[in-house]
Amino acid sequence: MAIERIVDTSPHEEDTTEQIIEVSLRPSTFDEYVGQERLKMNLRLAINAAKKRAEPLDHILLYGPPGLGKTTMAVVIANEMNANIRITAGPAIEKAGDLASILTNLQDGDVLFIDEIHRLGRSVEEVLYSAMEDYKLDIMIGKGPAARSVRLDLPKFTVIGATTRTGSLAAPLRDRFGHIYRLEFYEPAEIGRIIQRAASILGNTIDAPAATLLSTRARLTPRIANRLLKRVRDYADVNGDGIIDTMTATKALQLLEIDELGLDAGDRNLLRHMVTHYGDNPVGLTTLAALTGDEASTIEDFYEPYLMQIGFVERTPRGRRITPKGRRHVEQ
Ligand code: ADP
Repeated sequence: MAIERIVDTSPHEEDTTEQIIEVSLRPSTFDEYVGQERLKMNLRLAINAAKKRAEPLDHILLYGPPGLGKTTMAVVIANEMNANIRITAGPAIEKAGDLASILTNLQDGDVLFIDEIHRLGRSVEEVLYSAMEDYKLDIMIGKGPAARSVRLDLPKFTVIGATTRTGSLAAPLRDRFGHIYRLEFYEPAEIGRIIQRAASILGNTIDAPAATLLSTRARLTPRIANRLLKRVRDYADVNGDGIIDTMTATKALQLLEIDELGLDAGDRNLLRHMVTHYGDNPVGLTTLAALTGDEASTIEDFYEPYLMQIGFVERTPRGRRITPKGRRHVEQ
């Protein structure tokens, strides 16, 4: 049975009420979107320029670990441009025809958000090239010797692509983005603000020390901050009067087995395997995945970015290696 990790940065399959909450927690303007100040400054400039010229915004690629706010930023950009947004994901567009039908249904100025854009198939990617480059759609009609290619005009739309790995993106696709931005992990104080904002939307009171406590356990990631808050809120509602203070937060975090750095049993297991089997030597990603029983992509996308951010794991040309700091944490 798959164990659901509370600190997992991927969106969980949540029930409908949770999804509604998720939507209402999602900021919709630059002012509500906490942090990522440099990114916001660049985007504000690009949006103002595009509006002034009455042109669509150039295509934008957002990259960085899951849960940092790429989808949210795409929604904010569309709002700030007063544009409609159509949300899809790389694995959902299986055939070139799927993309063609999405593209022909867009209108001038629309934003097309493609999550996990590195997972688009080759044939789909090729259709996207000319669509992004000169708003044309090349399609083949018929088969065999009678087949002919037709060029259709498309509306002037903006692609916002999101990826956890720019390295996996084909160079010709990457080159078609006018803006490429990396989302950074948040500062604990920013996570604290995200928690306070979410608590007030959810109608719970959280005192400042409890917000600070949670902000240090959320892996510097808004999605985890919101998820932790919801679980701590459950605890406070059931075991107290709904007010979240340090005591309720600490108890709830203990139940969730999340330590003072935001690491859970899965992270500690990974670090322990590295120490036990490899000591100070590097270990390859596939070997590590076999040892822990996780997918290599799970380690790469979910565990590793934060463990590297806090200096517990480093990448070497021969694989991943635990640092002395990481080692001390497991051995303590
Ligand atoms: P990604 O697309 O990078 O995986 P999302 O945009 O889905 O991440 O963000 C996850 C959740 O975190 C969102 O539902 C939103 O509520 C919250 N969130 C993300 N970024 C911010 C932010 N800068 N300020 C406030 N809340 C945020």
